[in-house]
Amino acid sequence: MDRERRDLQELRAKGVSEGMSDENDLPRVHMEQAFRWFCPGCKTENFDRAVEVEFESREHMQEVCEGLGVDKYREGEIVEVPKTVTCRSCLILCTTDDPRYDPEEDDV
Ligand SMILES: [Zn+2]
Repeated sequence: MDRERRDLQELRAKGVSEGMSDENDLPRVHMEQAFRWFCPGCKTENFDRAVEVEFESREHMQEVCEGLGVDKYREGEIVEVPKTVTCRSCLILCTTDDPRYDPEEDDV
């Protein structure tokens, strides 16, 4: 193994051990809710940001929460899936289904 490569490996090893010893030195990121989906064309795994629901009224809020099966006061921010998404690989445009919503309930 040449010297340059060995130095690089030592630097990486040092960086990892320092990062593990003090989390405050690591960059911090703000996590947001997202939905995962697979492209029907090329099978690429995609992630799209959740859309925060804007309620028109208290009744609208109750209606949406009931439909999604969530409790507004327990879950905090209520989000829905984007209406359409685009595959990051092949750029195909798709419509979406919300995984929390069961379409068979409409038939009852
Ligand atoms: Zn695709």
